[in-house]
This record gives sequence, C-alpha cells and structure tokens, in this order.
Amino acid sequence: MTPLPDTAPHRLRLSADALVANWRALARMSGAGAACGAAVKADGYGLGAAAVAQRLAAAGCRDLFVSSWAEAAALPVESALGLSVLHGVRAEDMAAAAALPHVRPVLNTPQQVARWRAGGGGRACDVMVDTGMNRLGIAAADIADGLLDGLAIDTLMSHLACADEPDAAMNRDQLRRFAALRGATGARRMSLANSAGIALGRDYAFDLTRPGLALYGGIPCPALADTIRPVVTIEAQLLQRRIVRAGEVVGYNATWTAPADTPVGIANLGYADGYGRGFSDRGRARALAGDGAWLPVIGRVSMDLVALDLTGTALAEGDWIAFDPDLPRAAAASGRSQYELLTGLGKRFDRIWA
Ligand SMILES: *Cc1c(COP(=O)(O)O)cnc(C)c1O
Repeated sequence: MTPLPDTAPHRLRLSADALVANWRALARMSGAGAACGAAVKADGYGLGAAAVAQRLAAAGCRDLFVSSWAEAAALPVESALGLSVLHGVRAEDMAAAAALPHVRPVLNTPQQVARWRAGGGGRACDVMVDTGMNRLGIAAADIADGLLDGLAIDTLMSHLACADEPDAAMNRDQLRRFAALRGATGARRMSLANSAGIALGRDYAFDLTRPGLALYGGIPCPALADTIRPVVTIEAQLLQRRIVRAGEVVGYNATWTAPADTPVGIANLGYADGYGRGFSDRGRARALAGDGAWLPVIGRVSMDLVALDLTGTALAEGDWIAFDPDLPRAAAASGRSQYELLTGLGKRFDRIWA
C-alpha cells in the first residue's frame, strides 16, 4: 500500500519565497545586461527539479541547466523556456535528443561536435570551452581551427574552477581567456558565472549567469552571506521521549554517556535521508514552534534515527522538530560540503512548499 501523501515522519519545508528571492537577488547582481538562469541538475539539488523549475519560470527565469537527457525528459518544460544538457550528447543520447526538440546539448568535445553536426538536424546547441579547469570543454585552439564553424550556437560557456575563492588569480585568468573568445564563434550569448562567479563582479556575468547552489540557500562565498536566504528546512517527528539515567549511554557504539538524568528524544531521521554520520554529536534542531533553545544531537546518527538532548523542553512523542537550516554552519559541523548536504537529501521526505 502506498502511504497517504504528507504523512511521512519527516519532511522538507521548502520556501518558494526564499527560492524566488534568491534568484531575483542573483539576477540583480548579474546586472541588467545579463539574464540569470538556474542549474536544476541533480533533481534541483535535491529539492525537486520540477517544483523548482516551475517556480523560477513563473518568476521570469528562462534558462535551465541539467546534467543528463534523463533529467531533461523529467522536466515538464514549456517551449518558451531554454533547457540545456550540460554533459552534451553521447551516441546513446541521440534518440532522447531527437525526442526533446526544445532542449540543447552543451557540446563538450570534438566528438560531440561531430555527432551533433551529423545527427542534430541543424538544431541549436550550446558549447562548453575549457579555460583552465580541465574538466569538460573543447580547447580554445580548436575554435581557432574552425571546429565550430557553421554550428547554430546559442550559448558559448565556460566554468570557473575557483569562484568560491574570490582572491584566486585563476578567476582572472579564466575571465581573460573566456573574454578573448568574444566574437570568435557565432554564439548568440556567452556565459561564465555560477553562484560564486556572480559575486566576483559584473565582468564575470557576460550575457547569462548559471547559479545553482545559492538559489537553494547555499552560501559559497562571504559576499553572498547577507543576500541569500535558507530555502530548505528538514523537519522530523519524535518517535519516543525517554529519560536516560546518569551514566547510561545512547546509540551505536555507546559514544554518548549521560552526565546526569537527561530527557532524550529519538527522531525519525538518519543517514539514509541524507542526515549523515558527520552530524553525530554535532548537529542541532529545535522545537518546530520556534525560538526555543537548540537541542544538540547526541551519539551516533543511525540509518533512520537520531537522538537529541531535550533538556529544558516539554517535547513529547509525536512532536516535530526542525533541524538547523543554515547550510554553511551545517557543512562546517558535518564536514560535508553544502552541495553534498543538498544533493544528498533522501527520497523519503514529503516535500512541502509554502
Ligand atoms: C553545477 C554547475 C553550475 C552551478 O554551479 P553552482 O556552484 O551550484 O552555482 C553552473 N555551471 C555549470 C557548468 C555547472 O556544472
């Protein structure tokens, strides 16, 4: 039997206001000369790509980025919306590409360029050029040799390796190499900046920016700290409240010992939901109602359960608690990146937008 909707013992509270406000702020920072798109790969960084795309499109976003054709096919997208597949086209993708005529591949290699020339039917594409990251993209020298001649290129893009390190000299190197390609292809637009790249300044915005992380409340660099709002809060229900007597232990491997008689809550959340073992003795949550004290996670995070110290609260079985939504702090506490915390969010949550 399928459970009824919205009865899971844990849920993600998702703020459409914060998502849209973050996109608008990034669009403003991108400047009047640049459109602001959205990376919705990895299921919208774990939030749900279709739900994110729908809300951003309603706010005026016109350019979406996914990794694969499967991700593109899963997005119900109107034709007015640009959708690009960052990994381009393998031979295995050509049938999917034919079935999705509104979607553009981002061609990354000379082989992909040849494949699109032969089988793309003259359709528009995007092209990734490598400016030093050595991850994906064709070489600038190949452009000079005519690799792209005659292709219908919508957007020529490159990707920054160190945008979250504002002082890294590599940012300016990549900017210089990319800017030198202006006019070198028939591309309609140029695009370089991810979330952190937008904060590097207007020079980096070109015609189109491609934020991901910051849309979802991630803060990749201090310059965005005052602008970006949290979008996701994990909430979980208490399955039990118990008193752990002084000297007794909690959880696997008995890593936490009660210093005094302690009220302990066992919540329905664990590493199978993306709340990783890095939060053992380091995470925190508080009563859903709001401003009460933070309740520390105690002992090891289990697959499906986590224990919290309920001292000073009347929280009881069936009550809900909210985990700290501050992504930079959660990343520092758990030792995982903000990207991993978001994209690791599990499938079992009810995802509730407000
Ligand atoms: C994922 C990705 C982005 C978005 O990056 P964030 O750091 O999440 O803002 C932009 N461009 C490319 C090519 C990407 O792969």
